[in-house]
Amino acid sequence: MSAFVGKYADELIKNAKYIATPGKGILAADESTGTIGKRLSSIKVDNNEPNRQALRELLFTSPNALSYLSGVILFEETLYQNTRDGKPFVEVLQENNVIPGIKVDKGTVELAGTNGETTTQGFDSLGARCQQYYKAGARFAKWRSVLKIGPTEPSELSIQQNAQGLARYAIICQENGLVPIVEPEILTDGDHDIKKCAAVTETVLAAVYKALNDHHVLLEGTLLKPNMVTPGSAGPKVSSEVIAEYTVAALRRTVPPAVPGIVFLSGGQSEEEATLNLNAMNKLEVLKPWTLSFSFGRALQQSTLKTWGGKTENVGKAQGAFLGRCKANSEATLGKYEGGTGGGLASESLYVKGYKY
Ligand code: 13P
Repeated sequence: MSAFVGKYADELIKNAKYIATPGKGILAADESTGTIGKRLSSIKVDNNEPNRQALRELLFTSPNALSYLSGVILFEETLYQNTRDGKPFVEVLQENNVIPGIKVDKGTVELAGTNGETTTQGFDSLGARCQQYYKAGARFAKWRSVLKIGPTEPSELSIQQNAQGLARYAIICQENGLVPIVEPEILTDGDHDIKKCAAVTETVLAAVYKALNDHHVLLEGTLLKPNMVTPGSAGPKVSSEVIAEYTVAALRRTVPPAVPGIVFLSGGQSEEEATLNLNAMNKLEVLKPWTLSFSFGRALQQSTLKTWGGKTENVGKAQGAFLGRCKANSEATLGKYEGGTGGGLASESLYVKGYKY
């Protein structure tokens, strides 16, 4: 059971390590056309190409914000888009030492015979697509698997299918020069307590790393994007410190030290909650052999989106909100965030039941 060492091995290791630089993290701006439509409709903006381009340009050209980022995950359309002045977004990112990444999965489908559990699609021509994305400048990829907690969920079928899927995706990425971000997201829906989420997270991550090893994935050239360990959305609330303890314990029990970085998803937490939880983890005085950072979508963009509202005259203010969030999360990767960035807007819950990304 040894890792695959293809022609990209050194590059994969270097890029994964760079993305995991303490003080930096990932902006997940890879919303599919359908998902970005939900975001735009929340601010009453039409979901057309110019509006999607405008939102992405606002983010990527936000003064100073990119200094807190090491990677940005893009959707295929965005990978090939330019600023209004005609400069490719990929170049804007590269010039600021931010590595472009690409979402390569094609969403989830239900596993027949289960209570709404899913597996992730996107294997058709995945290798060829990875080659094209590499040519276009992408150096890492994302594939999201989704699991849920219920009376009998996640089922063994869902755990195994999603672990195998993530491992197969990861090795195809590595064969084609892309660092795979391995994302087994356990949804927060439910009234379970934090202990239940911890147990499920440990079981799922153990299965994922067994599969990654079975598929000869070079762990040094990967990143993990997990959920934080939290109570269910309708479960008993706990403090950031408790979330940090349970999350770091679950990761220490399951994620090998060969993995350079763990970049959390925000999963419907408010911007401020997500930052405070990440900060609490980095303040914990236990051995953490990997960097703990962020790969937030909603928790990096929500107040920016609301401040923008689709209006050109609000771009500067919206970019200010984005900068504030990037800086806050950068500080949280170092355990140095004091709290309070963004005021009330940053504390609004982003939870949506049964959320589909
Ligand atoms: P959220 O941070 O909004 O959960 O999204 C991150 C992501 O990329 C999910 O795949």
